[in-house]
Amino acid sequence: MKFISEEAREEFSKYLKWNKHRITPERFEALDYALGQQGHFSADELYVAMKTDGSNVSRATVYNTLELLAKCELLSKRNFGENKSYYESNFNIQNHDHLICTSCGKIIEFSSKKIMKIVKEICDENGMEYVGYSFNIFGKCKDPNQCKHR
Ligand SMILES: [Zn+2]
Ligand SMILES: [Zn+2]
Repeated sequence: MKFISEEAREEFSKYLKWNKHRITPERFEALDYALGQQGHFSADELYVAMKTDGSNVSRATVYNTLELLAKCELLSKRNFGENKSYYESNFNIQNHDHLICTSCGKIIEFSSKKIMKIVKEICDENGMEYVGYSFNIFGKCKDPNQCKHR
């Protein structure tokens, strides 16, 4: 898999320098993989994908690089109600929210202009400049045939 975004690499390298983190090729390898993922992925899933492609990256590097990428906002960190974090690329992807089934863990993505409008209004009313938000709705599939326990 090849996915190289110069813009993202530049942003990440600035962030690393600014915060006095070491700049290593493994970190940029993890960045390329992370931004190339479709949809949501866990740190372990990314690690396994990189290993499968023959990477020498360590599990610790994948974990801490993902944390750094979330801090510099190239990735979003999501928690879907389980005790597990997922990541998702913020790069060239439309802002969206998640509707999660608490029984089977199915995740539906949606985006709503109405929610965005309300978020900005709340910021304005409280004298804050909008930076970002995260919003999860929890539900249960109505159709039991569609809802498979994992
Ligand atoms: Zn998503
Ligand atoms: Zn379900």
